[in-house]
Amino acid sequence: MSEQFDVVVIGAGPAGYHAAIRAAQLGLKTACIDAALGKDGKPALGGTCLRVGCIPSKALLDSSRQYWNLQHLFGEHGISADNAKIDVGTMVGRKDKIVKQFTGGIAMLFKANKVTPFYGFGTLHPGNIVKVKQHDGSEVELKGTNVIIAAGSDSIELPFAKFDGDKIVDNVGALDFTEVPKRLGVIGAGVIGLELGSVWKRLGAEVTILEALPDFLAVADAEVAKTAAKEFKKQGLEIKLGAKVSKAEVQKDGVHLTYNDGKADQQLVVDKLLVAVGRRAASKGLLAEGTGVKLNERGQIEVDEHCHTGVDGVWAVGDCVRGPMLAHKGFEEGIAVAELIAGLPGHVNFDTIPWVIYTEPEIAWVGQTEQQLKAEGTPYKTGSFPFAAIGRAVAMGEPAGFVKVIAHAETDRVLGLHLVGVGVSELVHEGVLTMEFKGSADDLARICHAHPTLSEAIHDAAMAVDKRAIHKAN
Ligand code: FAD
Ligand code: NAD
Repeated sequence: MSEQFDVVVIGAGPAGYHAAIRAAQLGLKTACIDAALGKDGKPALGGTCLRVGCIPSKALLDSSRQYWNLQHLFGEHGISADNAKIDVGTMVGRKDKIVKQFTGGIAMLFKANKVTPFYGFGTLHPGNIVKVKQHDGSEVELKGTNVIIAAGSDSIELPFAKFDGDKIVDNVGALDFTEVPKRLGVIGAGVIGLELGSVWKRLGAEVTILEALPDFLAVADAEVAKTAAKEFKKQGLEIKLGAKVSKAEVQKDGVHLTYNDGKADQQLVVDKLLVAVGRRAASKGLLAEGTGVKLNERGQIEVDEHCHTGVDGVWAVGDCVRGPMLAHKGFEEGIAVAELIAGLPGHVNFDTIPWVIYTEPEIAWVGQTEQQLKAEGTPYKTGSFPFAAIGRAVAMGEPAGFVKVIAHAETDRVLGLHLVGVGVSELVHEGVLTMEFKGSADDLARICHAHPTLSEAIHDAAMAVDKRAIHKAN
């Protein structure tokens, strides 16, 4: 006999828990199933993001930034400390405490909103039946008028560098090293490679990142990527582009890597190897025979623009469907689907999803890059402004980077905002808001920005679009 719900959500990551809470808020009887366990072996809600992704990585990025600044930035402020030390156990313990606070917070939110949690692995069967294998071995059967699949994603494993949880790791292992590795190798100069590579570099590891593609951070604006690469080089992050790794052998003295740099085979020996070559949709064991839910060629659950799978009452959201693998993209899809189920006009605007890479300097953007606009033949104009000419950034001792506004050449409508520098993870939302309201570069230029703030770089960059920036030659 199955227990009946209006909505059954599979997965309590960002996409799933948003869907579940919003559905319950809208008066729908909602269940949410999650299989994950925390480091203490107890069920932990919140998905990759809260357990082993966004939040723990930012906790370590912040800790390591303090340590790095103590050694590299505080001196110019006249602040010094003898014998600065790093205690990795305390740092990782602090991260674990934050993770526990937030995963526990989701359980409390479920209780407050009357979402019924089920702790175990869910499999969708025909007829919107979800069978849940609970951690104690028992099975329950749920029937949802609607089922929302929010199963998330897993790290991609390279066949010649299998994760062993010790020497060869993914994000999970790299968030939990017990000491600073002397030599850290990273395969993939993407978001995880750069963020977690930065963490361990700041703490003293020699970090070498091997990237297969010839261009650095090709998804970002080319000028932003170039500036970021220059800053990372200054910090001592070694990034080798066009490096094709073919072998990773664990030996007594470390992991022996063989890669080809386009000219010849090269060797690199590291103490730990982080493989960060992307993630793929999690669908193993998720779908029983005959559900009618289809997977595309990338293994993602196929959905339309409303996250509907084409099977009556079955939806899918977050990392397990097309689109960027970002927590906030999942948040929006989860809310939109819950609202659509309740008969409201749920909607996600894919054109205004911001991207942030939490390195130092931070990298952020929303909208299209110059490369994309050129390729599609859209006429555009740009205005840039450096943080080196922004009083607040200089006063902070963080003058690296710039802001670039891209606007349509004829209508002046903002098509993209690209930033690299201090605090740009927050500043990018000025671009999101402008684009959501279909604003122009002139709108941005005429909005009063407080002085002295970092946001003035956006103001001046917007003015530079029409060659009227005040604080630089146009
Ligand atoms: P997930 O968070 O993966 O959650 C899916 C949940 O479903 C999991 O708990 C899983 O156990 C459960 N599940 C799966 N299948 C079943 C099943 N059959 N039955 C029961 N439960 C199931 N994104 C950002 O926007 N900003 C960041 O700063 C950021 N940093 C990141 C750092 C790292 C190191 C990593 C790895 C990722 C980061 N991301 C970041 C990406 C972000 O974590 C994901 O985009 C986001 O977690 C996806 O949410 P989701 O709900 O789709 O899936
Ligand atoms: P990614 O797609 O960002 O980067 C993977 C990199 O690995 C790419 O540059 C790719 O060219 C390279 N690569 C692939 N195969 C390779 C190989 N065999 N050898 C060498 N290089 C290879 O993937 P990721 O860094 O693993 O992160 C996964 C996803 O998690 C990201 O796409 C992102 O959506 C999400 N994430 C987001 C944030 C954030 O928002 N700040 C942080 C971390 C992760």
